[in-house]
Amino acid sequence: MFTIVCAALVLGMPGLSRSQPEQGDRVIFIDAGHGGSDLGVKIGDRGYEKDLNLRLALALRKELVAAGFRQVSLTRNSDQDLSIKERSELIRKTNPALVISLHANGGFSGKARGYELYFPGFKTGKEGRNDPAAIIGDMTKNKHLNDSVRVAQHIQRQLAGIFPRENRGLRDAPLPLLEGLNVPAVIVEIGFMTNKENRKKIEDEKVRMDIARAIARGIREGI
Ligand SMILES: [Zn+2]
Repeated sequence: MFTIVCAALVLGMPGLSRSQPEQGDRVIFIDAGHGGSDLGVKIGDRGYEKDLNLRLALALRKELVAAGFRQVSLTRNSDQDLSIKERSELIRKTNPALVISLHANGGFSGKARGYELYFPGFKTGKEGRNDPAAIIGDMTKNKHLNDSVRVAQHIQRQLAGIFPRENRGLRDAPLPLLEGLNVPAVIVEIGFMTNKENRKKIEDEKVRMDIARAIARGIREGI
């Protein structure tokens, strides 16, 4: 569960031109949400979101490496307590090309289902500023915003093959994890653990590998 205040739906945002540096040289940073005493959403009577997020993160790392990304980092690779501040610090030190944070959703009834994606709503400065440093800072933020949206859209398209007609949309949100950082980022809420069909799929190891592969493809296409 990733608590947010929803902002505007972003649909059809135009993609920016792509640069094509060596894919393998880019650092991809995977954040498995929650961990340790921070359990996340309860998954039936069989565990918690934190474990699912970790399994998916490890699978995603494997798929990214297979896709040619040589540098893939994780905020955690075991069941450990890790504060938002500690996660942010790890990301800051690595200076990644993309942060991908993995979560699973929970709802009040069993009806809500499907995947949803978020990207950080980077605030840019006031228009009409004459300070070159501020203008360049705003341009960088805009680029990261566009990078985030483009990667998220590719991931959405890939996930549609696994969860047909279950795309709940792409939204911007303030991400505490990225406060003070300026990097492209996407949060994936992979499905609702309170929905029987979603839960069954996500708990299936084969489907989980398919999900990891789909996310890795989305990253490769979008970055
Ligand atoms: Zn979560």
